[in-house]
Amino acid sequence: MAAPILEVAHLCKYFDAGRAVSGETKKLKAVEDVSFAISPGETMGLVGESGCGKSTLGRTIVRIHDPTAGRILYKGEDITRRKNKHLLPVRRSMQMIFQDPYASLDPRCTVGDILAEPMAIHRLYTKRERASRVQALLETVGLKPDHIRRYPHEFSGGQRQRISIARTLALDPEFIVCDEPISALDVSIQAQIINLLERIQDERGLSYLFIAHDLGMVRHISHKIGVMYLGHMMEYGQTADVYDNPYHPYTKALLSAVPVPDPKTARAKQRIVLKGEVFTPIDPPACCLFANRCPHVMARCRRTEPPVCHVAGRRVACHLYTPDFLALRRNGENPIFTDPPDWRADIPV
Ligand code: SF4
Repeated sequence: MAAPILEVAHLCKYFDAGRAVSGETKKLKAVEDVSFAISPGETMGLVGESGCGKSTLGRTIVRIHDPTAGRILYKGEDITRRKNKHLLPVRRSMQMIFQDPYASLDPRCTVGDILAEPMAIHRLYTKRERASRVQALLETVGLKPDHIRRYPHEFSGGQRQRISIARTLALDPEFIVCDEPISALDVSIQAQIINLLERIQDERGLSYLFIAHDLGMVRHISHKIGVMYLGHMMEYGQTADVYDNPYHPYTKALLSAVPVPDPKTARAKQRIVLKGEVFTPIDPPACCLFANRCPHVMARCRRTEPPVCHVAGRRVACHLYTPDFLALRRNGENPIFTDPPDWRADIPV
């Protein structure tokens, strides 16, 4: 198997959130102990509720934010603490598509200027070469050559996102963070943008970190998936495995809300409605942060943070999957744990 293009190990990103009465600085823990790897040509989907830290994680990886702790390895090189000119080659190879195509394009620049700017900043190509590359980029994303002289306000949302994608491709990147690239678009346009991203990936062998709310779309585009909750990676594994048989109670709840096109299946499907208060990410307690909403909560969940458990090729941060808990529950003839029963019935803690 090819070496990963990106490896993230125990990554944390905290923000200062004012002072407590005691005088200590309060910390907003946006990303906490997140680890994963992406191979060349692979797409990893990242899902979770709003405010769970998905975008902060993406921005920390491309070094818009400085990480608080942990390591980011890009093509085998540690870029966690790189700054200024040492970061420039990495910035060229690692790009980001932003969520809002209305806010991410400079309204005072023409499309031609927007697409040529990254090449000018990195001092690549002559003026003439840049002009011909801009034309090629427009063609790649399905825009017309005469669009080069127009301004962003003259385009629809889908066309603007195409311009954003073209700008991302201007430096020939190998890895792109797609930060909810379709959530601001109409449903009919979303499919066009996804098809465009897939085509570009096939043609150029790109790797994506694809952040989205739409679980159906993430299943379609991703090879593996990470489920985030309050800055923590709750479950991480191959997309088909996680969708077909989710382990973590939060993943189960998320997937139970995905609409299914068949009315018969939809009627039979049991929706898990989460109740209970969400913990604050500012100095959160040292316990399972999903404990207030989890239908399987146990005493130990409120006392200790669940470790990351490796189960059947997947990582799950839940006490239900710790080796001692599995050993207590496992049927000796079936050592692979696949379908947990209702654990509330008998709690061995
Ligand atoms: Fe639920 Fe406990 Fe697992 Fe947290 S650790 S998800 S509260 S069972």
